[in-house]
Amino acid sequence: MSDSVMQDRRECYATRATVGLDRHHVFKASRRKASEEMGLWVWLRHDVHMAMHDHRPPWEALEEALKAAAQRAWEESGGTRAEWMRRIGANYLGGDAE
Ligand SMILES: [Zn+2]
Repeated sequence: MSDSVMQDRRECYATRATVGLDRHHVFKASRRKASEEMGLWVWLRHDVHMAMHDHRPPWEALEEALKAAAQRAWEESGGTRAEWMRRIGANYLGGDAE
């Protein structure tokens, strides 16, 4: 398991719960491998995780918010915008995507 660039602790990203956790990869499908290798994943309490994927309140916006948070964490940890664009292919932070 790669270290997450988004969290230092094993706790739910949304609620800080420490039990009943799932690992959520921020990007899926063709980008899931990059998501794993680049540490773009977070712990989520299982019920939060399921509600988020079902777009149920109050977590319906969390999935998209995590994409921007992932890019911010990646770039703050020294990752370059160019590599982000090459591997993830979309800019979630606004500004020039290079
Ligand atoms: Zn998930």
